[in-house]
Amino acid sequence: MESLKQRILKDGCIVDGNILKVDSFINHQIDPQLAFEIGKEFYNRFKNTGINKILTIETSGIAFALCAGYHFNVPVVFAKKCMGANMSPEVYQSKVHSYTKQIDYTISVSKKFLSSGENLLIIDDFLANGQAVLGLIDIANQAKSNVSGVGIVIEKGFQPGSKIIRSLGIRVESLAVIESFNNNKIIFKEAFER
Ligand code: 5GP
Repeated sequence: MESLKQRILKDGCIVDGNILKVDSFINHQIDPQLAFEIGKEFYNRFKNTGINKILTIETSGIAFALCAGYHFNVPVVFAKKCMGANMSPEVYQSKVHSYTKQIDYTISVSKKFLSSGENLLIIDDFLANGQAVLGLIDIANQAKSNVSGVGIVIEKGFQPGSKIIRSLGIRVESLAVIESFNNNKIIFKEAFER
């Protein structure tokens, strides 16, 4: 998605050699026009796959899942990283290792918001080692729902996440794929190489 790539080049910066900081338009401040464009692009890529629900993970996946959900006209469910006092004890849970924080945490989704046989589209902001998406796939499997696809805003193509998820037979669509951070420069993978 060209407008996303241009924005990453304009406003993204590389931290510690392997983290892309995009907090001025994705992870902290959010650009609504770009977010809606991203949601539309996910819709265009997955519109023929019978999606009934979108599943994401708090916090940064929510805005993009919501924009996609608007175009699909389906509900959006996000996995919680903390069990709130008002959350039903009937939950599906999975353990996730955080790449950016280097900690393990448990994600939870209330059983009442996932049903067997539903076709889910999983959406997240980044795909690196695939742990967050694998946690969501685990929860989808526990609910006996189908993962019809995974939509990612920014994939770090030099980390194994997308290979791992594709090896499960799941379609992954990433709107911007980074091939490398070369000498502190962001290099994108060309679409035809995939
Ligand atoms: P994974 O579970 O695929 O290893 O990592 C995905 C999660 O880690 C994303 O939800 C995102 O929050 C975070 N993440 C991984 N790499 C980056 C990065 O380079 N920049 C930012 N901002 N977040 C990242």
